[in-house]
Amino acid sequence: MLKLLLIINLFLFDIVNSAPVYTPIENRAQAVKYLVKYGYLSSVEAGNNMNDLQRAVESFQIEFGLNITKMLDSPTITAMAKPRCKMSNINMTMSMGKPDMMYKLHDPAANMKIFTWTIVTFLDKLPRDLQYEAVEKGLQKWADKCDLVFHRVDVENAHIRIHFEYIDSPGSTLAFAFYPGYTNSGKQIYDSSESWTMDNAGHSLQYVVTHETGHTLGIMHSSDPLAIMYPSYNYLGGDYSITPDDESACKILFGEKKDNGCFGPNGKVLLRDGGTVLMKDLRIGDVVQTSANAFSRVVTLLDRNEKSFETFIRLRTQSGNFIELTKKHLIPIKSSENEEKRYVFAQNVLLGSKVYSVVDGKEIEDEVIEISSKTYQGYYSPLTFHGTIVINGIQASCYAEVESQSISHWSMFPLRSLSYIKNMLSVSKVEDFEGIHWYGRLSKQYALPIAKNLGIL
Ligand SMILES: [Zn+2]
Repeated sequence: MLKLLLIINLFLFDIVNSAPVYTPIENRAQAVKYLVKYGYLSSVEAGNNMNDLQRAVESFQIEFGLNITKMLDSPTITAMAKPRCKMSNINMTMSMGKPDMMYKLHDPAANMKIFTWTIVTFLDKLPRDLQYEAVEKGLQKWADKCDLVFHRVDVENAHIRIHFEYIDSPGSTLAFAFYPGYTNSGKQIYDSSESWTMDNAGHSLQYVVTHETGHTLGIMHSSDPLAIMYPSYNYLGGDYSITPDDESACKILFGEKKDNGCFGPNGKVLLRDGGTVLMKDLRIGDVVQTSANAFSRVVTLLDRNEKSFETFIRLRTQSGNFIELTKKHLIPIKSSENEEKRYVFAQNVLLGSKVYSVVDGKEIEDEVIEISSKTYQGYYSPLTFHGTIVINGIQASCYAEVESQSISHWSMFPLRSLSYIKNMLSVSKVEDFEGIHWYGRLSKQYALPIAKNLGIL
């Protein structure tokens, strides 16, 4: 492709005037071959028709956000020389995004939220665990911003199926995928001849997975050169995020990422009678440990969902305990020796911070030595009268979304009181329900703005 660039740059020809002075036929033929290969031109023969060729070049220039000259000018040839995705927007039904955005949406749009994924055929040149890691991280870039979840499975009929196969020589086509609604929907093929790497030394597998997954989700190429969905390889660095342009497209299809403030299903909670119960089996009325010396009744379940997948932050501590909670769930910590106990979002806990564990009936400061993430089916958010709960021996708040234990606890006071009174009068019934408690929903919605208006936050 570099050869093509050099040759054509030396002999630029003008399609509009159809009077190229120095246009060796083999160079024009290579440009035509490129346009046919990526779907802008129906056949090599069609390249002999000036109108067809102009239309093809115009389509290419639109997709790449170039000036529309309909000529094989220098920017066009330069763009053709870059490694790219095999997909093209040509001949696709599409809907445009907002006027200030450059993305295009495929039709029909996806209507799923949970995508299972697997690697069907592996690359020989990269260890398998690194291939899994690259794919997982590449997928997560979409889940970081939009309301969808990716879950690894080891079956070949997963929603997203990664294949490494030979496509063409290195440096030209990197990969392609299939849009929703097609026979091979969910299949993604990566060129095994490329040098795939975890960073940008070769081609970043993680980065291209993010791009191809955009297609799987129903997003076409964007003409924004900074977007993940730009047609050619444009690495944005190791800690990249999807760009506002990509994010807008994804949110139209899947909605905004919701931050459920919950615990994972398998955390163990100590009951006052000495028994333990898993978070998923916890019921209203259970009396659970809330600190080293205190137990409190579960007054309600602010949120409970057994079916949806959720990603949790897992904090492992020096004492061997661990706790799994969503990123905007509050947990008490101490960051330094001089600092008081304070409540922060789980996502703001750093390695070396100290959480509060209960060991042999005593509260200890317990250093966080590992932070990782886990995805489980099901999430749970019990509210105790005290507003705290001890899970796997580590104390956590019952609250989320507002980074203040006192405001959250205050906003739930009416509900905690009502439940307490009902319990005293024995009119409360233990019940299961899916979804967030109505009062919790209201509080989550209004506590933050109220707190901000009061100048507390
Ligand atoms: Zn693409």
